[in-house]
Amino acid sequence: MSKKKYWEDVYYSQPTNNELVGNAKLTAEKAAKRGKTLNPVIITGNKIAKSWWGIAWCNNLEKYADYESRLSRGKRYVKLGSVVDLQIDKGKINARVQGSRKTPYKVEIRISPLSEKQMENITAKCGLKVENLNKLVSGDFPAELKDVFIGEDGLFPKPREISFNCSCPDWALMCKHVAAVLYGVGARLDEDPLLFFSLRGIDTNRFVDVVIANRTEMMLENINKPSKRILSDVDLSEVFGVL
Ligand SMILES: [Zn+2]
Repeated sequence: MSKKKYWEDVYYSQPTNNELVGNAKLTAEKAAKRGKTLNPVIITGNKIAKSWWGIAWCNNLEKYADYESRLSRGKRYVKLGSVVDLQIDKGKINARVQGSRKTPYKVEIRISPLSEKQMENITAKCGLKVENLNKLVSGDFPAELKDVFIGEDGLFPKPREISFNCSCPDWALMCKHVAAVLYGVGARLDEDPLLFFSLRGIDTNRFVDVVIANRTEMMLENINKPSKRILSDVDLSEVFGVL
């Protein structure tokens, strides 16, 4: 016989799929009646994210979790449509997640803005691959900019740069509702990688302007610099007193 623990996982009974789906439907109907627009996470198919960056985001969640079961439950929740509302803003994510009770839980996630050093690093890296900016702006995070995303000092928030809060009574640091929202963010980022920039407090238009301006400046400097060949000619003319 296995020993019973006080904080046992089964302490909170898990709602069935039908309960979760039914509650989410009721919440959507109530919101529609009140004229409120919700932005639910809708997963089609078995995969939460399909793009390399969305998949990388989801895989990275394991670093934040203090309890593995919350992650698998979070996945189940997001796939069933329990994240009935998800809003991504500069440095913060606000969401509502349906659980066993009729009223959805309120989840708030905060992500620290990038430091000046991190920002400079990202601007410089993008400047070297400026031709990829177009792709990024049109919704495709080019693999050439992978380092900007997952590299050291990249856009990807480290566990200490992210904090979360949920209105449910779960004692775990990351409950299944927070996990569901984070997976939902992965799905949302799939559609629009520029949201990564917003999440880290970056104004994308300004960012693109700065990267292009710095790149142009660098190119102009290179044009004005005489090449080694010309330099050696000048040296020679001095040596032979041609001038
Ligand atoms: Zn919760």
